[in-house]
Amino acid sequence: MAVRTGAQFLKGLQDDREVWLEGERVEDVTTHPKLARMARTLASVYDLQHDPKYHQDMVFKSPSSGEPVALSYMIPETQDDLLRRRRALEIVAHDSYGMLGRTPDYVNIQLTAMRQMASLYGRKEPKYGENLIAYHAYVRENDLCMTHAFGHPQVNRGVLISELSDPYIALGVVDTTTEGVIVRGAKQLATLAPFADELFCPLYRPLRTDSDEDKKYCLGFSIPANSRGLKFICRQSHDMGDSLYDYPLSGRYDEMDALAVFDDVLIPWERVFNFQDLELANEALEAVPMWRQYMQQVAVKNIAKLEFILGIIRGIAQGVGIDGFSHVQEKIAEIVDILETVRAYMRAAEADAGPYQAQDIRGEGIWPAAEPWIAMRNWYPDAYVRIIWIVEQLAAGGLMLTPSQEDVQGPMAETIGKFYQGASLDASKRIALFRLAWDLVGTQFGSRQALYERFFNGDVVRLRQRRYANYDFTAAENAVNTFLERDRLEKPQGA
Ligand SMILES: Cc1cc2nc3c(=O)[nH]c(=O)nc-3n(C[C@H](O)[C@H](O)[C@H](O)COP(=O)(O)OP(=O)(O)OC[C@H]3O[C@@H](n4cnc5c(N)ncnc54)[C@H](O)[C@@H]3O)c2cc1C
Repeated sequence: MAVRTGAQFLKGLQDDREVWLEGERVEDVTTHPKLARMARTLASVYDLQHDPKYHQDMVFKSPSSGEPVALSYMIPETQDDLLRRRRALEIVAHDSYGMLGRTPDYVNIQLTAMRQMASLYGRKEPKYGENLIAYHAYVRENDLCMTHAFGHPQVNRGVLISELSDPYIALGVVDTTTEGVIVRGAKQLATLAPFADELFCPLYRPLRTDSDEDKKYCLGFSIPANSRGLKFICRQSHDMGDSLYDYPLSGRYDEMDALAVFDDVLIPWERVFNFQDLELANEALEAVPMWRQYMQQVAVKNIAKLEFILGIIRGIAQGVGIDGFSHVQEKIAEIVDILETVRAYMRAAEADAGPYQAQDIRGEGIWPAAEPWIAMRNWYPDAYVRIIWIVEQLAAGGLMLTPSQEDVQGPMAETIGKFYQGASLDASKRIALFRLAWDLVGTQFGSRQALYERFFNGDVVRLRQRRYANYDFTAAENAVNTFLERDRLEKPQGA
């Protein structure tokens, strides 16, 4: 099929998937009033691949069919390949103003990175490596959209998953048949789930290598979103169906989050990447750094988002005549610095890219450098909180002076025209700009954006703990030791 159009993508979603939203089973995610606009947004992302302006920059020649397929499935071999992939990511991220964390390229790159380490998965049992390679080719050739879920339900983090009140809260193996593995339980947190063709569940949590109990939870796989017994329970929609003037972001970019519940779901053997190999599960945690590849999408998305935010806040500052105040300029410059720091991290990771090897396993292709990504991943969540604070500080009460479209066009239009105008904006444009800022930082959509930046990549608290545990402090220790040694040998003055 090569690259799909938006219409083909939408048609693919019209199946018997089980999506639950606000107490009801959704019949058709492409027409549901609280999901349809996001479905159309994603369709427009697929359509970009067919736009003559972008087509060549978004595809590469499939190694199996020779057809043009999405670049996010390419195994990059050179730095030029990384830059080529970056260009494709930029087209998508700028089209959605960085408001979507989960354009399909994100998980595509994640799966591709795992595929680059297929020999690790096939080391003991070649079929699991082969499954991974075949699956990667399958989604690439069919241009499928994936959601992914890594975590166990947040029921009781104080005990092991095998110690929870029910053995099937965390996803566990119930039985095996000649066709595959039957599983029960749940996985969190599947962003994009209602709009995905596939649910990807790589095994990415630590397990006890000496525990027969943990074997039950040791399974890496991927399955179609409409698999029998698979249910997605969505959070409340942030798209309330309101006008896009009132909620310009919520109404377009609510990518949705869900819990994936497995009610005795059959995972066909050919979709299994790890079955009860506890050593492989734990080794993969360190040895398969998928993030070294997908962080390129994150950086590109962040750059697009920060440019957009910068445009909003500068527009507001100019619009209400505060842009001449030096502290306002200083705060806007702080956002510029965050934007340029992300760009610098990205360029450093690309420039220092090289081969990757974990013990005896060599990853295929080229891998962006780890250090810039780790630093960016641990720093950016705090930087984003600061950005929100700056937007609130500068937009201030204006965020509340945001009457609806009905007011702006209603009987009070003339009065609104007088009191809601800005220094350089008419009332309608000024209100639109402030409503945009409010949707960015204040609405349910805006709050979720902030939470996303803090958690989508894991919990920064624990990421930093890992950073401390793994960092090589030799240079730091040497620096202070040589400094202290120097002073010790120096005679005190006047002695
Ligand atoms: C908007 C959004 C979208 C997301 N999308 C996805 C997705 O598409 N796919 C996906 O797989 N995941 C996704 N995530 C989930 C994300 O990976 C998790 O939120 C993150 O890994 C943290 O896990 P948790 O939410 O279960 O929090 P918990 O692990 O329950 O942590 C809660 C708090 O307890 C502390 N804590 C818990 N356990 C420990 C411990 N052992 N030691 C010390 N402190 C501890 C944490 O520091 C934290 O403060 C998303 C999250 C958000 C918010």
